[in-house]
Amino acid sequence: MLKAAFPGSFDPPTLGHLDIIRRAAAIFDELVVVVAENRRKKYFFSAEERTSMLRRLAADHKNVSITVCDTLIVDFLQKQDIKLLVRGVRGTDDFSYEFELSMMNRALDPRIETIFMTTAPEYFVLRSSSIKELASFNGNTAGMVPPLVAEALREKFRRGSAG
Ligand code: ADP
Repeated sequence: MLKAAFPGSFDPPTLGHLDIIRRAAAIFDELVVVVAENRRKKYFFSAEERTSMLRRLAADHKNVSITVCDTLIVDFLQKQDIKLLVRGVRGTDDFSYEFELSMMNRALDPRIETIFMTTAPEYFVLRSSSIKELASFNGNTAGMVPPLVAEALREKFRRGSAG
């Protein structure tokens, strides 16, 4: 039984994240998408909003579940008895960051294996931060995020600009 976790901020979820979820769900028996909630970090969407978006987006994958984690990922994995960590890699910058992170996690618990999945070429430029920036200028995010996320972005910025 192969159970893996895919952690991230997902602030907001993009087509790149969903592609990794879909591909990982086809490899592993169970995939837990872990929504990071770090009290020292400022998120655009709340953990509840990010979780609810991901639940709707992954609803077709019966072996995918979404959960929030406000602790160290290693502690979460130990509690859930998960030893596989999936991370998406867009390019060499991502890789050096992800490599260091995997070394850190391995130092904390040598049983944890990080599995890197390369992005699909059509999604390699997708980054949650640039998509938020684009949405803040009312730019068209279709083709970068699923329609429900595009709508959530529009709604948030509309409310924000309305005060
Ligand atoms: P973080 O806060 O760790 O950067 P993100 O929500 O940005 O979390 O991303 C979660 C994971 O998804 C990371 O492993 C990241 O590299 C990966 N990822 C993000 N965008 C893409 C993409 N377009 N294609 C493939 N993987 C991606």
